[in-house]
Formats: sequence, structure tokens, C-alpha cells
Amino acid sequence: MPAYPLPPGSVIGVLGGGQLGRMLALAAARLGFRTVVLTPESDSGAAQVASRTICAAYDDDRALAELAEAADVVTFEFENVPAAVVAALESLGAAVAPGARALAVAQDRVDEKTFLNACRAPTVAFRAIETAADVRAGVEALGAPALLKTRRQGYDGKGQTWVESQADAGEAFARIGGQPAILEARAAFQRELSAIAARGRDGDISIYPLGENHHEGGILRRTVAPASVPTGVFDQAAAIAARILTSLEYVGVMGVELFALDDGHLLVNEIAPRVHNSGHWTLDGCEVDQFEQHVRAIAGWPLGPVTPLARVEMENLIGADVERWRELIKEEEARVWFYGKGEARPGRKMGHINRLRPLG
Ligand code: AMP
Repeated sequence: MPAYPLPPGSVIGVLGGGQLGRMLALAAARLGFRTVVLTPESDSGAAQVASRTICAAYDDDRALAELAEAADVVTFEFENVPAAVVAALESLGAAVAPGARALAVAQDRVDEKTFLNACRAPTVAFRAIETAADVRAGVEALGAPALLKTRRQGYDGKGQTWVESQADAGEAFARIGGQPAILEARAAFQRELSAIAARGRDGDISIYPLGENHHEGGILRRTVAPASVPTGVFDQAAAIAARILTSLEYVGVMGVELFALDDGHLLVNEIAPRVHNSGHWTLDGCEVDQFEQHVRAIAGWPLGPVTPLARVEMENLIGADVERWRELIKEEEARVWFYGKGEARPGRKMGHINRLRPLG
């Protein structure tokens, strides 16, 4: 294990070459670190700004050995990194943060909710599903409609379908490909919030003001932050996030997606063991943004202040939205972030803008 805090000049390894890796590399560079990115993508958004890129499959043994050799600490920017990859890196002597446990928990929706409930982070009621008969029994127990999601590999609303009734159980199971799944009771939420939280190597925990999230077609469209919530709601979110981070002995930034119910209670929808799209507002709205915070945490530096400096409306630029760039760059209060991606395919996150308003 390296000696912490890592000095400037140390090397951060990042698994993944997307926009999160790109913004991590930018933050790392500002703190004097170098970044080595491992990604199968040639000319990835992260490679354009990293010090070095290893272009290979994530399970390529030679590439992993190169990464372990080069990096003082390795992190990841997406949660579907195969567990075997982290195990291989660790066996090569690399320090990986956040650890294998956080990754494993976040990769399987049943394990995730089981873990969350065990650490007193409330979620909707759920059932593990193996067969269409399980879906029928689950709908009977949880009520209709209920949401059927694949256990693994779901993102941006993919791999999910509503089960409208017991009679719909068989077809619904077929719609998600008849795979192991989770059936969730419907959360009658008033709004969706998220907590971006961080834990340092010294166990210190810090939580940004909450963001309020709006989705379109299963994809995050906008985050408004700091969300105006009663202090009790923030305290609840902070307590939930702290229990999750502590119980995973987590190091780094985590996104905790929350449902706010009418009665003021929060439920956890899911956790992301990485920097999170709903935390992009912090880039222009907080003293220390989530990318710097993640780098500080994994490098064993003290966490930075999360004090908000502005009220931010973050808008994702998805697919053809990016073609509006000529107008966007004229907006005085808008800070623009483009991810350096080539083709603006539908649903692809191409950039985001942070519109700044005074705190009030
Ligand atoms: P997920 O992929 O789990 O983040 O879900 C994507 C979106 O589906 C969430 O942001 C919610 O808008 C909605 N959703 C997920 N789970 C539930 C649920 N149990 N009840 C109601 N809506 C849900």
C-alpha cells in the first residue's frame, strides 16, 4: 500500500474512459496528479485529457499489469467493472478505491437493497425474482403496479418494465429477457433527490447539499441544487449516506439516489460507487467539486469544503442537444462542459451546462 497522503506527481489510475473519467482527470491534473486511463475505446473523452491511456479490454491481463505498475491508486468511473478485474488489480498490489465490496453491492440490485436495509437505509419493499411465477407471487405481495428490473447491468432506465397486474407477470418477465431480477413496490414519491457524499481515508464524511433530479425517458435531464428541502430532510439524507459509507468502509465519492415521499421520509433508490451525474452542479456551484473531492479522498488527502457558492440548474446535453452549442456558449450565466465525444447518438450524454443563479 502506498503512503498517504499521496504527494502531487503521484499517478491516479482510472478504469473507464467516459465523461466521468475525463472530469476526474481534469481535477486530478489541477492537484498535480497524473492520470492513466484504461479503456477499450480509442480516442475516448478521458484519453483526450489524461496523461496516458492504455487502450485495451478491461480484462486484458497485460493491460491490468501495466495499470497496476503505473498507478499509485486505481479508481473506476462506472460500476459495471467486472469484480475479477478489481481482484486482479489487488493481487498485483494495486490499491483500488472505492473497494471491491462497494462495487459488488452496487452491481446487483437484490444484494444492494439487502445491504441497504441491513444498514438502516430504507428502500421500497422488494422480492428477488427467478421465474415468472415469482413475479406473480411478488405482485400479489407488493401490489400492482410493481417495477421489474434486471438484477444486473441496468442503467438509465434500461432493463426495467412495469408489471401492471398478476396477469401481466409472464409477459413482463419476458420483456426483461427472463433474467434474474428484482421486483420493487412502486415508490409513490413526490420528487427525486440525490445526495453526493464522500468519505476520506481517515473516515471523515462530507455531504453536499441535496440535488433535485428530473428524468426524461429514464435519463437524467436536469438537476437543481441546492434543492430546497426542510433541514430534517437533509439530516435524514446525511444520516443515511453516512451509514452506507461507514458500513462499506468506503473511500471516495458516492451518489445516493433518493425518493422523497409525501410524509417527508426518504427511501434509497440506488447507490452509485463513483462520482455521479447529479453531482455535476458542484463543478461550478461548490467550493470543492465532486471530482476533486473523489481525488482527494482516494489520495488520502483531507476532504475539501462542500459549501455551495451558487444555485445551479444543471442540464444534460443529450444526443442532438449538443448541436445547440452556438446558443449555449452565448449564455452569460451558463458554464458549459463538453465531453469530447464524436457522434451525437440519441441518448448519449454529450455534455452538460450549469446555469448559475444567486443562492437565496
Ligand atoms: P433506476 O434505474 O433504478 O435508477 O430507476 C430509474 C428511474 O425509474 C428512477 O429514477 C425513478 O424515476 C423510477 N423508479 C425506479 N424505481 C422505482 C420504484 N420502485 N417506484 C417508482 N419509480 C421507480
